[in-house]
Amino acid sequence: LPFDQIGLSPDILRALKEQGYLHPTPIQAQAIPVVLQGRDVMGAAQTGTGKTAGFSLPIIQLLLAHANASASPARHPVRALILTPTRELADQVADNVKAYSRYTPLRSVVIFGGVDIGPQTQMLRAGVEIVIATPGRLLDHVQQKTLNLSQTQILVLDEADRMLDMGFLPDLQRIVNLLPTQRQSLLFSATFSPEIKKLAATFLKNPVTIEV
Ligand code: AMP
Repeated sequence: LPFDQIGLSPDILRALKEQGYLHPTPIQAQAIPVVLQGRDVMGAAQTGTGKTAGFSLPIIQLLLAHANASASPARHPVRALILTPTRELADQVADNVKAYSRYTPLRSVVIFGGVDIGPQTQMLRAGVEIVIATPGRLLDHVQQKTLNLSQTQILVLDEADRMLDMGFLPDLQRIVNLLPTQRQSLLFSATFSPEIKKLAATFLKNPVTIEV
């Protein structure tokens, strides 16, 4: 099915048209309907398959479906959290999310270490619905109380295998403990190693497995 027949709003379709996307890639065709249904996902996909849009587009759609019209920062709780292993990937995912959501009222911010924390804090104070982050700096913001994850209904672990390789498991556990237990979780990994399967068993509920 083309993009305009899979349940995405006109504001998203307009952005996709501008990006020159005509048809969903195989992972997008599989992931978008499943995420829109609210299901958890365990996805095996490499970079270059279009996995970023595969999770970003339905997340943007889900947040729009329950949009909050208020401009008050307090009424813009963080509703979706996308975790990545590196700054480069966080930046890349954030650029995509911003492009796909540009005609919507949703706001997003990218959070990673190694740069001044001040501008990130200001963005969080102003109110954002979508946070794209690496685990360490995200926890710094939680500790400084500039970020509250108690209303975050959607979690994405992108390149989860690399996050485990980089020793982020304790950080991931800490972060997941800050989220509501009633949430939707998506895990993407290049491989389904025993460690990844264990992580999925801990963090996901009855996930749909997608492999491309
Ligand atoms: P990713 O695997 O998410 O890193 O995406 C790889 C590249 O494919 C990115 O440059 C995307 O902008 C592009 N892309 C993603 N989905 C589509 C699509 N449906 N049609 C054309 N290009 C796409």
